[in-house]
Amino acid sequence: MKLFVNLKPAAVLLLAGIVIISAAGCGSDSKAPSTVDSDAPKTAVDPAKNSGAPQPGQTDPSAKVGSSTPSTPPTSGTVDPAKPSTPPSTTTQKPADSGSKGQAKAIEVVANPTDKAVLVNKAYKLPEGYVPQDLVDPNVPFIFKEKSEKRKLRKEAAAALEKLFKAASDDKLPLSGVSAYRSHETQKTIYANYVKKDGEEAANKYSAKPGQSEHETGLAIDVSGTTGKCAASDCFAATKEAKWLDEHAAEYGFIIRYPKGKESITGYQYEPWHLRYVGTEISKDIAKRGVTLEEYLGQATPVNK
Ligand SMILES: [Zn+2]
Repeated sequence: MKLFVNLKPAAVLLLAGIVIISAAGCGSDSKAPSTVDSDAPKTAVDPAKNSGAPQPGQTDPSAKVGSSTPSTPPTSGTVDPAKPSTPPSTTTQKPADSGSKGQAKAIEVVANPTDKAVLVNKAYKLPEGYVPQDLVDPNVPFIFKEKSEKRKLRKEAAAALEKLFKAASDDKLPLSGVSAYRSHETQKTIYANYVKKDGEEAANKYSAKPGQSEHETGLAIDVSGTTGKCAASDCFAATKEAKWLDEHAAEYGFIIRYPKGKESITGYQYEPWHLRYVGTEISKDIAKRGVTLEEYLGQATPVNK
Protein backbone atom coordinates (compact mmCIF):
# COMPACT_ATOMS: atom_id res chain seq x y z
CA MET A 1 0.00 0.00 0.00
CA LYS A 2 1.11 3.44 -0.64
CA LEU A 3 2.70 5.39 2.06
CA PHE A 4 2.31 9.08 1.70
CA VAL A 5 1.92 8.89 -1.97
CA ASN A 6 1.94 12.09 -3.83
CA LEU A 7 -0.26 11.42 -6.78
CA LYS A 8 0.29 14.22 -9.16
CA PRO A 9 -2.74 15.37 -11.10
CA ALA A 10 -1.23 14.10 -14.31
CA ALA A 11 -0.63 10.72 -12.80
CA VAL A 12 -4.15 10.60 -11.55
CA LEU A 13 -5.50 11.39 -14.97
CA LEU A 14 -3.25 8.85 -16.57
CA LEU A 15 -4.29 6.29 -14.04
CA ALA A 16 -7.92 7.12 -14.46
CA GLY A 17 -7.60 6.85 -18.21
CA ILE A 18 -5.54 3.74 -18.47
CA VAL A 19 -6.59 1.72 -15.53
CA ILE A 20 -10.27 2.23 -15.40
CA ILE A 21 -10.38 -1.40 -14.45
CA SER A 22 -8.24 -0.65 -11.51
CA ALA A 23 -10.51 2.05 -10.31
CA ALA A 24 -13.47 -0.25 -10.58
CA GLY A 25 -11.61 -3.15 -9.11
CA CYS A 26 -9.99 -1.46 -6.18
CA GLY A 27 -12.92 0.32 -4.87
CA SER A 28 -16.14 -1.08 -3.78
CA ASP A 29 -17.88 -0.43 -6.99
CA SER A 30 -19.53 -3.65 -8.04
CA LYS A 31 -21.20 -2.25 -11.07
CA ALA A 32 -18.39 -2.93 -13.45
CA PRO A 33 -18.86 -6.51 -14.60
CA SER A 34 -18.07 -5.89 -18.22
CA THR A 35 -15.04 -3.76 -17.59
CA VAL A 36 -13.39 -6.07 -15.14
CA ASP A 37 -10.54 -7.65 -16.96
CA SER A 38 -11.64 -10.84 -18.50
CA ASP A 39 -8.52 -12.84 -18.00
CA ALA A 40 -8.57 -12.67 -14.24
CA PRO A 41 -11.59 -14.90 -13.87
CA LYS A 42 -10.25 -17.32 -16.47
CA THR A 43 -6.99 -17.91 -14.73
CA ALA A 44 -8.54 -17.81 -11.36
CA VAL A 45 -11.30 -20.25 -11.97
CA ASP A 46 -9.13 -23.11 -13.08
CA PRO A 47 -10.54 -25.71 -10.74
CA ALA A 48 -7.86 -28.26 -11.45
CA LYS A 49 -5.28 -25.95 -10.09
CA ASN A 50 -7.12 -24.09 -7.44
CA SER A 51 -9.50 -26.29 -5.63
CA GLY A 52 -7.12 -29.18 -5.39
CA ALA A 53 -4.11 -27.15 -4.51
CA PRO A 54 -2.44 -28.30 -1.38
CA GLN A 55 -1.93 -25.64 1.19
CA PRO A 56 1.49 -26.51 2.47
CA GLY A 57 2.08 -25.84 6.08
CA GLN A 58 -0.59 -23.32 6.67
CA THR A 59 -3.85 -22.87 8.35
CA ASP A 60 -6.60 -22.64 5.85
CA PRO A 61 -8.26 -19.30 6.40
CA SER A 62 -11.46 -20.74 5.08
CA ALA A 63 -11.56 -23.15 7.97
CA LYS A 64 -12.28 -20.26 10.20
CA VAL A 65 -14.74 -18.48 8.04
CA GLY A 66 -16.87 -21.19 6.62
CA SER A 67 -15.16 -24.38 5.64
CA SER A 68 -18.29 -25.80 4.14
CA THR A 69 -18.37 -23.14 1.52
CA PRO A 70 -16.40 -23.98 -1.58
CA SER A 71 -14.32 -21.14 -2.82
CA THR A 72 -16.24 -18.96 -5.15
CA PRO A 73 -14.65 -18.33 -8.50
CA PRO A 74 -13.40 -14.78 -8.69
CA THR A 75 -15.88 -13.69 -11.26
CA SER A 76 -16.34 -10.40 -9.59
CA GLY A 77 -18.68 -9.08 -12.20
CA THR A 78 -21.05 -11.97 -12.05
CA VAL A 79 -21.23 -12.67 -8.40
CA ASP A 80 -24.59 -11.89 -6.97
CA PRO A 81 -23.92 -8.86 -4.83
CA ALA A 82 -26.80 -9.74 -2.61
CA LYS A 83 -25.21 -13.03 -1.67
CA PRO A 84 -22.66 -12.81 1.13
CA SER A 85 -19.30 -14.24 0.20
CA THR A 86 -18.99 -15.97 3.51
CA PRO A 87 -21.62 -17.05 5.95
CA PRO A 88 -22.00 -14.70 8.87
CA SER A 89 -20.12 -17.10 11.08
CA THR A 90 -18.52 -16.91 14.46
CA THR A 91 -15.66 -14.68 13.53
CA THR A 92 -17.75 -11.96 12.04
CA GLN A 93 -16.84 -8.81 13.84
CA LYS A 94 -18.76 -6.04 12.31
CA PRO A 95 -20.26 -5.05 9.05
CA ALA A 96 -17.79 -3.17 6.95
CA ASP A 97 -18.59 -0.11 5.06
CA SER A 98 -18.07 -1.09 1.50
CA GLY A 99 -18.04 2.42 0.23
CA SER A 100 -20.26 4.13 -2.23
CA LYS A 101 -22.78 1.36 -2.50
CA GLY A 102 -23.18 1.15 1.22
CA GLN A 103 -23.41 -2.62 1.14
CA ALA A 104 -22.61 -4.26 4.42
CA LYS A 105 -19.91 -6.86 4.22
CA ALA A 106 -18.54 -8.94 7.00
CA ILE A 107 -14.85 -8.77 7.65
CA GLU A 108 -13.38 -11.93 9.07
CA VAL A 109 -10.61 -12.07 11.58
CA VAL A 110 -7.80 -14.36 10.48
CA ALA A 111 -7.10 -17.36 12.63
CA ASN A 112 -3.45 -17.59 11.68
CA PRO A 113 -1.88 -14.13 12.00
CA THR A 114 1.62 -15.53 12.53
CA ASP A 115 1.48 -17.85 9.52
CA LYS A 116 3.68 -16.62 6.70
CA ALA A 117 0.82 -17.42 4.33
CA VAL A 118 -1.67 -15.35 6.29
CA LEU A 119 -4.24 -13.64 4.12
CA VAL A 120 -4.89 -10.03 5.05
CA ASN A 121 -7.02 -7.95 2.73
CA LYS A 122 -10.32 -6.12 2.54
CA ALA A 123 -12.17 -9.25 3.63
CA TYR A 124 -9.74 -10.61 6.24
CA LYS A 125 -8.18 -8.64 9.02
CA LEU A 126 -5.66 -9.22 11.76
CA PRO A 127 -6.90 -9.78 15.29
CA GLU A 128 -7.20 -6.64 17.37
CA GLY A 129 -3.92 -5.88 19.06
CA TYR A 130 -1.82 -8.26 16.98
CA VAL A 131 1.86 -7.39 17.05
CA PRO A 132 4.43 -9.70 15.42
CA GLN A 133 6.80 -10.98 18.08
CA ASP A 134 9.91 -11.46 15.98
CA LEU A 135 10.39 -8.11 14.29
CA VAL A 136 13.99 -7.27 13.41
CA ASP A 137 15.83 -4.67 11.35
CA PRO A 138 16.93 -6.23 8.08
CA ASN A 139 20.43 -5.23 7.13
CA VAL A 140 19.48 -3.38 3.96
CA PRO A 141 19.43 0.29 3.00
CA PHE A 142 16.27 2.34 3.20
CA ILE A 143 15.47 5.58 1.44
CA PHE A 144 15.40 7.35 4.80
CA LYS A 145 18.06 7.55 7.47
CA GLU A 146 16.22 7.55 10.76
CA LYS A 147 15.52 4.65 13.02
CA SER A 148 11.92 3.64 12.55
CA GLU A 149 9.44 0.82 12.85
CA LYS A 150 9.19 1.15 9.08
CA ARG A 151 12.50 -0.71 8.81
CA LYS A 152 11.26 -3.78 10.58
CA LEU A 153 10.24 -7.13 9.23
CA ARG A 154 9.68 -10.48 10.85
CA LYS A 155 12.89 -12.41 11.22
CA GLU A 156 12.45 -14.90 8.40
CA ALA A 157 11.24 -12.23 5.99
CA ALA A 158 14.15 -9.98 6.94
CA ALA A 159 16.71 -12.69 6.19
CA ALA A 160 15.05 -13.37 2.84
CA LEU A 161 15.00 -9.67 2.04
CA GLU A 162 18.73 -9.41 2.64
CA LYS A 163 19.29 -12.16 0.09
CA LEU A 164 16.92 -10.53 -2.38
CA PHE A 165 18.66 -7.17 -2.09
CA LYS A 166 22.08 -8.80 -2.44
CA ALA A 167 20.98 -10.53 -5.63
CA ALA A 168 19.55 -7.32 -7.08
CA SER A 169 22.73 -5.52 -6.22
CA ASP A 170 24.79 -8.25 -7.90
CA ASP A 171 22.67 -7.66 -10.99
CA LYS A 172 23.56 -3.96 -10.82
CA LEU A 173 20.11 -2.94 -9.69
CA PRO A 174 20.54 -2.08 -6.02
CA LEU A 175 17.33 -1.63 -4.09
CA SER A 176 16.24 0.32 -1.06
CA GLY A 177 13.46 -0.24 1.39
CA VAL A 178 10.72 2.37 1.45
CA SER A 179 8.41 1.08 4.16
CA ALA A 180 8.07 -2.28 5.87
CA TYR A 181 6.34 -2.86 9.19
CA ARG A 182 3.56 -0.57 10.25
CA SER A 183 1.92 -0.80 13.62
CA HIS A 184 -1.81 -0.81 14.01
CA GLU A 185 -1.64 2.68 15.44
CA THR A 186 0.41 3.98 12.53
CA GLN A 187 -1.97 2.45 10.02
CA LYS A 188 -4.86 4.07 11.85
CA THR A 189 -3.23 7.46 11.50
CA ILE A 190 -2.29 6.96 7.88
CA TYR A 191 -5.73 5.79 6.88
CA ALA A 192 -7.45 8.59 8.76
CA ASN A 193 -5.25 11.15 7.04
CA TYR A 194 -6.04 9.73 3.61
CA VAL A 195 -9.75 9.75 4.34
CA LYS A 196 -9.50 13.34 5.47
CA LYS A 197 -7.61 14.28 2.34
CA ASP A 198 -9.40 12.30 -0.37
CA GLY A 199 -12.57 10.97 1.19
CA GLU A 200 -13.21 7.41 2.26
CA GLU A 201 -14.13 5.98 -1.10
CA ALA A 202 -10.98 7.23 -2.77
CA ALA A 203 -8.80 6.31 0.19
CA ASN A 204 -10.04 2.74 0.10
CA LYS A 205 -8.63 2.31 -3.37
CA TYR A 206 -5.07 2.71 -2.28
CA SER A 207 -4.95 2.48 1.47
CA ALA A 208 -5.92 -0.22 3.89
CA LYS A 209 -8.07 0.20 6.92
CA PRO A 210 -6.37 -0.49 10.24
CA GLY A 211 -6.02 -4.24 10.74
CA GLN A 212 -6.30 -4.85 7.04
CA SER A 213 -2.86 -3.71 5.96
CA GLU A 214 -0.30 -6.33 5.07
CA HIS A 215 2.31 -4.02 6.50
CA GLU A 216 0.95 -4.84 9.94
CA THR A 217 1.92 -8.49 9.47
CA GLY A 218 5.64 -7.68 9.37
CA LEU A 219 5.79 -9.70 6.16
CA ALA A 220 5.41 -6.90 3.62
CA ILE A 221 7.70 -4.20 2.37
CA ASP A 222 7.56 -1.50 -0.26
CA VAL A 223 10.81 -1.17 -2.15
CA SER A 224 12.36 1.11 -4.75
CA GLY A 225 15.65 1.82 -6.43
CA THR A 226 18.28 3.43 -4.22
CA THR A 227 17.42 6.94 -5.35
CA GLY A 228 13.92 6.57 -4.01
CA LYS A 229 12.61 7.88 -7.30
CA CYS A 230 9.09 6.61 -7.95
CA ALA A 231 8.98 5.11 -4.46
CA ALA A 232 5.52 3.65 -3.96
CA SER A 233 4.36 5.47 -7.06
CA ASP A 234 2.92 4.30 -10.32
CA CYS A 235 6.01 5.29 -12.30
CA PHE A 236 7.93 2.54 -10.49
CA ALA A 237 6.28 0.06 -12.84
CA ALA A 238 8.42 1.28 -15.73
CA THR A 239 11.74 0.89 -13.90
CA LYS A 240 14.33 -1.83 -14.37
CA GLU A 241 14.07 -2.55 -10.70
CA ALA A 242 10.39 -3.37 -11.04
CA LYS A 243 11.11 -5.69 -13.93
CA TRP A 244 13.86 -7.39 -11.97
CA LEU A 245 11.58 -7.87 -8.97
CA ASP A 246 8.88 -9.28 -11.15
CA GLU A 247 11.33 -11.86 -12.47
CA HIS A 248 13.27 -12.67 -9.32
CA ALA A 249 11.31 -11.91 -6.17
CA ALA A 250 9.81 -15.38 -6.05
CA GLU A 251 13.27 -16.97 -5.88
CA TYR A 252 13.64 -15.40 -2.46
CA GLY A 253 10.18 -16.10 -1.12
CA PHE A 254 8.47 -12.86 -2.09
CA ILE A 255 5.50 -12.19 -4.34
CA ILE A 256 4.31 -9.03 -6.05
CA ARG A 257 1.23 -8.99 -3.91
CA TYR A 258 -0.96 -6.72 -6.05
CA PRO A 259 -0.33 -7.68 -9.65
CA LYS A 260 -1.58 -5.93 -12.71
CA GLY A 261 -4.95 -7.14 -13.93
CA LYS A 262 -5.90 -8.70 -10.60
CA GLU A 263 -7.35 -5.63 -9.00
CA SER A 264 -10.80 -7.16 -8.73
CA ILE A 265 -9.38 -10.05 -6.73
CA THR A 266 -6.85 -8.36 -4.50
CA GLY A 267 -8.91 -5.22 -4.05
CA TYR A 268 -5.93 -3.02 -4.83
CA GLN A 269 -4.51 -1.37 -7.85
CA TYR A 270 -1.24 -2.64 -9.31
CA GLU A 271 1.59 -2.10 -6.86
CA PRO A 272 4.83 -3.41 -8.35
CA TRP A 273 6.73 -2.13 -5.31
CA HIS A 274 4.80 -3.98 -2.63
CA LEU A 275 6.48 -7.26 -1.80
CA ARG A 276 4.98 -9.83 0.48
CA TYR A 277 6.99 -12.63 2.02
CA VAL A 278 5.33 -16.04 1.87
CA GLY A 279 8.36 -18.35 1.69
CA THR A 280 9.88 -19.85 -1.44
CA GLU A 281 7.62 -22.86 -1.63
CA ILE A 282 4.53 -20.72 -2.02
CA SER A 283 6.12 -17.81 -3.86
CA LYS A 284 7.51 -20.03 -6.61
CA ASP A 285 4.19 -21.79 -7.02
CA ILE A 286 2.31 -18.51 -7.17
CA ALA A 287 4.76 -17.09 -9.71
CA LYS A 288 4.55 -20.20 -11.83
CA ARG A 289 0.77 -20.20 -11.89
CA GLY A 290 0.42 -16.45 -12.21
CA VAL A 291 -2.16 -16.26 -9.47
CA THR A 292 -2.73 -13.99 -6.51
CA LEU A 293 -2.42 -15.04 -2.89
CA GLU A 294 -6.21 -15.00 -2.69
CA GLU A 295 -6.47 -17.46 -5.55
CA TYR A 296 -3.68 -19.59 -4.22
CA LEU A 297 -5.41 -19.92 -0.88
CA GLY A 298 -8.74 -20.65 -2.51
CA GLN A 299 -10.14 -17.40 -1.21
CA ALA A 300 -10.85 -16.03 -4.61
CA THR A 301 -14.10 -14.42 -3.66
CA PRO A 302 -13.81 -10.84 -4.76
CA VAL A 303 -12.86 -8.66 -1.89
CA ASN A 304 -14.26 -5.49 -3.33
CA LYS A 305 -17.91 -6.27 -3.64
ZN1 LIG B 1 2.88 -1.63 0.60
